[in-house]
Amino acid sequence: MTTEPATTQDQTYDGLFQKALDGLHADGSYRYFAELERRSGHFPKAWHHGANREVTVWCSNDYLGMGQHPDVLGAMHKALDETGAGAGGTRNISGTNHYHVELERELAALHGKESALLFNSGYLSNWVTLGTIAARLPGCVVLSDALNHASMIEGIRHSRADKRIFKHNDLEDLERHLKALPAGTPKIIAFESVYSMEGDIAPIEAICDLADHYGAMTYLDEVHAVGMYGAQGGGVAQEKGLEHRLTVIEGTLGKGFGVVGGYIAASRALCDFVRSFGSGFIFSTALPPLVAAGVLASVKHLRGSSAEREGQRRAVAQLRSKLDEAGIPHITNPSHIVPVMVGDAKLCRQLSDELLNRHGHYLQPINYPTVPRGTERLRLTPGPLHSEKDIEGLVDALSTLWDEHGLPRQPAHPT
Ligand SMILES: *Cc1c(COP(=O)(O)O)cnc(C)c1O
Repeated sequence: MTTEPATTQDQTYDGLFQKALDGLHADGSYRYFAELERRSGHFPKAWHHGANREVTVWCSNDYLGMGQHPDVLGAMHKALDETGAGAGGTRNISGTNHYHVELERELAALHGKESALLFNSGYLSNWVTLGTIAARLPGCVVLSDALNHASMIEGIRHSRADKRIFKHNDLEDLERHLKALPAGTPKIIAFESVYSMEGDIAPIEAICDLADHYGAMTYLDEVHAVGMYGAQGGGVAQEKGLEHRLTVIEGTLGKGFGVVGGYIAASRALCDFVRSFGSGFIFSTALPPLVAAGVLASVKHLRGSSAEREGQRRAVAQLRSKLDEAGIPHITNPSHIVPVMVGDAKLCRQLSDELLNRHGHYLQPINYPTVPRGTERLRLTPGPLHSEKDIEGLVDALSTLWDEHGLPRQPAHPT
């Protein structure tokens, strides 16, 4: 087979694409992907093809290592052999398998809700649910936290509903917006529990109080909390006994639960509404049954076992205390996310490269536009499978680099 030479027109369009890419290079926000080979049974170790060495991964969202848990792998092997590779269709046209139904029941039970609805990703669950509800409830207004994830922002935008952005976790600002809206207007307050870049946690109860007072629905993204918080891994709302006060709890099956997919848990009527009107749900092939089987095993395991959550808390506490001893500046927060602040895009990338190539620690630099300029950082997510030795090795490497680059140390946080 021969390749046709590119036409002039193709070249013209490619020039336009390249110009946009050049802009990303110029402001340091071009994204380079690390080519990893995850090694099941050895997480958090992986093979890094760029560095050509084994590395310890510190920035995985497989927070609890469930992506290699024997229960999960066993369930997936079994379901693969039983059901084959794919779902065979959209949920409506031959794609609903027994595992999907069982998983939806399990997720509803996990959150104490009447019903749950599966999506192919957490991104889609936010995009479709917010997009559908806000578009189809006449006059609906969405109140959205300023730091909400792109999937919520895009879903709200797609709905074309009126939107008010309130200052991050700011109850006064939220109330100011609520007060300004007519009492009879349908409203949704959309927010997250654990915010992934700062690791701070929303005042869920106070937001629910405002929602009750002003007659709003609440939509909580618990993507960075499910599996990890609450007695059964139901998230921060579960931990605080607030699940019944939220209209919708949304989660991913790809982070703490270690596989892939997303969902909402809510009333029967709300889930049925999204199932019936959500285009991005209706017209897309269902998750492979083997994926649903693996997630089902993961959710069941984490509902019954606290060992992974305890292991994660141990690793987070160890890492924080060793960073404090070494005076490496990091943000204090109540979650499992440990942001080590660098404050400069080039330096952040350089530290990340040196950690990788010289010390075998993989941490993706977090730069603009993911975080504001001047707050560039290395975001650490230690988990139950990081040993004390891994943690010591990482902090020693950071400490060496801090010396070499003459970076400021910080006195230990008061405890
Ligand atoms: C990752 C993420 C999502 C999307 O979930 P996926 O399952 O990865 O598509 C949604 N919300 C937040 C806050 C996230 O960080």
